[in-house]
Amino acid sequence: MPAELIDGVAIARQIRDEVACDVQRLAQRGIVPGLTVVLVGDDPASAVYVRSKGKATDEAGMHSVTIRLPADTMQATLLAQVDALNADPLVHGILVQMPLPKQIDADAIVRRIRPDKDVDGFHPVNVGKNLIGERDGFVPCTPAGVQELLVRSGVETRGAECVVVGRSNIVGKPMMALMLQNAAGANATVTVCHSATRDLAAHTRRADILIVAAGRPRMVTGEMIRPGAVVIDVGINRVADASARSGYRLVGDVDFESAREVASLITPVPGGVGPMTIALLLRNTVRAAERLA
Ligand code: NAP
Repeated sequence: MPAELIDGVAIARQIRDEVACDVQRLAQRGIVPGLTVVLVGDDPASAVYVRSKGKATDEAGMHSVTIRLPADTMQATLLAQVDALNADPLVHGILVQMPLPKQIDADAIVRRIRPDKDVDGFHPVNVGKNLIGERDGFVPCTPAGVQELLVRSGVETRGAECVVVGRSNIVGKPMMALMLQNAAGANATVTVCHSATRDLAAHTRRADILIVAAGRPRMVTGEMIRPGAVVIDVGINRVADASARSGYRLVGDVDFESAREVASLITPVPGGVGPMTIALLLRNTVRAAERLA
């Protein structure tokens, strides 16, 4: 029987509704959560992401500001902008959209954001808190979204063999830290694979929960999946498709058709992990406002 789909659109909507309730509750105390996104340059993909973040923030009843800076902005100017946002009491969450132009040291920018306003969860203080399992930091939105998908789909994570493919700082590593904690929705035995992993399929075939974030279209096929496994596909890749009006379509890092025949639960692309990232960004912003109030 083909796998059931995990509906990321519906679960993200649930979280956004919860966030909207939290926003109303804060409004009674005179607090409006504020998210400021800084976009440097005119990368078209970044502009699309920033627009949808702004729209979702507005819809949730939050205060949303986008600051657009030219592509030739110098590092000192961007640092000064971050300092101003750090000091602004109306700004609870700060997000500097990546990638940044090459004259800017992205690590220096991330380190300058106040950890208690770092709703992306990339500041080393938040990275450390996630690793040691402290709950008062911010977890990066995509891995936090994956964990929510598992929990809200009723997947048993305790004691599960969880294999993560990919070790990036924004997905794979924080995903590992989350699933490893002795906590609800975690407590798994975690294996992390990367491009130097000797026999990838030998690892993926052991997984009860397989989370793939490799940036390689359809890399994980059905034969690499254990029958009955839960498969979470984080990948978003554009592949050429002459039949599509845009000339391309989006596929994941998992070969959906063959994986669906083997897995018990699987996320589609699009409509799986993607919508969760913005929902978790909104939730992080509300939490920032609650903590800073
Ligand atoms: P990334 O920084 O390029 O990292 C990819 C990781 O996959 C690296 O650790 C790499 O190993 C590993 N890898 C690549 N080829 C591999 C192979 N053949 N076997 C095993 N491991 C391999 O990518 P990312 O930023 O983590 O993103 C991953 C995917 O998720 C992309 O498709 C991206 O578009 C998508 N994404 C989606 C969302 C969302 O909202 N849904 C958010 C973020 C990212 P090495 O470290 O050895 O190079």
